[in-house]
Amino acid sequence: MVDTNEGKIKQIENFLDSRYPSFTIKQITNAIYKQGVKSYTDISTIKKELREELKDKFGNVLSLKPIAVTKEKQAQKILFETTDKHRIESVRMVYKPNEERKVEHQALCVSTQSGCAMGCKFCATGATGFRRNLTADEIVDQFLYFIQENINLDTVFFSGMGEPLNNPNFFKSLDMFINYIGLSQRKLSVSTCGITSGIRNITKKYPQVNITLSLHFPFQRQRESLMPATKKYPLPEVLTALREHVYKTNKKVFLAYVMLSKVNDTEEHAKELCRIINRSGRKNYLFHVNLIKFHEGSTLSSFKHSTKEDFNKFCKILESKHINYTIRQNFGSDIEAACGQLYARYTSKSSNLTRF
Ligand code: SF4
Repeated sequence: MVDTNEGKIKQIENFLDSRYPSFTIKQITNAIYKQGVKSYTDISTIKKELREELKDKFGNVLSLKPIAVTKEKQAQKILFETTDKHRIESVRMVYKPNEERKVEHQALCVSTQSGCAMGCKFCATGATGFRRNLTADEIVDQFLYFIQENINLDTVFFSGMGEPLNNPNFFKSLDMFINYIGLSQRKLSVSTCGITSGIRNITKKYPQVNITLSLHFPFQRQRESLMPATKKYPLPEVLTALREHVYKTNKKVFLAYVMLSKVNDTEEHAKELCRIINRSGRKNYLFHVNLIKFHEGSTLSSFKHSTKEDFNKFCKILESKHINYTIRQNFGSDIEAACGQLYARYTSKSSNLTRF
C-alpha cells in the first residue's frame, strides 16, 4: 500500500533504493514538476523498464482527479476529487496588466483541507464542516495539474478551503513548491485566522512568504462569536506574532476584512481597527487592510454587504488615521483577501459548470 502522507517523490526515492544512481530521482522530479509529464511512462530520461515499474507501483502521477470546471472571463475554478472521494477546489486567476503590474500574471488559489474546522459563520466552507487535511501531494497537485496542461502560473495563494496553518502538511507543501517547482517564497501567500504557532513558524523558516490575517472583527469577543475557533487564538496574541513578523522580515502583512452591514462596519469598528494597527509602533505602515465586499447569498447566513454610505464612512476613518488599505471589488482581487470567500463566490455560480 502506498503511503500517501509521505509524498510521491519520497516514496519513489525509497523504491529506487540503491538500484539506481542518485541523479535518477532528480530526473524523475524534474520530469514531473518541471516538464509536467502526465504518466510515469512519459519520462524519457529514465530507462523504459523503470518507467513501467513506476507506473505499476504508483499508478497516476496526479493524486487528484479533475471532475468539473467553471469558467469566467478571468477565472477558472476546477473541482478535484481525491482518491477517497473528497471534493476540493482550486481557482486560477488571470490578472490583466495594469498600472501596478505591467505584464499579465496568473495565480492559483489552492485548498489545504477538505472542509474547514474553523466554523466561521459567514463562510460557505465553514458551514460544510471539516473532513480531513489534504496531503502535501494533494495541495501541490492542484498546481501540478496546470503544469500538465501547459499553463504557466506565477503565484500561489493558500486561501481556498481550509485553514492552512492547522494542517502540518501545508509546510511540507511549501517545501515542494520551493524545491520541486522552483517558486520563490515571495510567490507564496497564506491566509490564516491567526494560528500563532504557524505564524511564528513562517517567520522563522519561510520569512518571505506573504501572510494575510483573516481578521474581520477587531474586537475579540465579537470575533470569537462569529469565528468560534479563534477563541483559542486571542487577538492580542495573534497581533503580537504578526508584529514580530513585520519587525523581523520588514514585509507587509495583510489584514482581510469582509464588510458586513451593521455587524463590523460601524465607526466603533473602524476606530478599533485603526487603534490595533497603530499600536504596532514605527512599522505600523506594514499592516495593510484589504476591505472585501461580502458575497451575499453564498451561505445560509443572513449577512449583508455594507451599504455604500457605511463603506465610505469606514474608509474615511481609516484615511484619517493614515491606515493603508485597498478595496477588493472584483473577483481577481478577492483572491488575495480571505479564505473561504472564493468557495462562497463560486458555489452561487454553478450554471457554467462543465463536467469532465
Ligand atoms: S473563512 Fe477560512 S478559516 Fe473560516 S471557515 Fe471559511 S475557510 Fe475556514
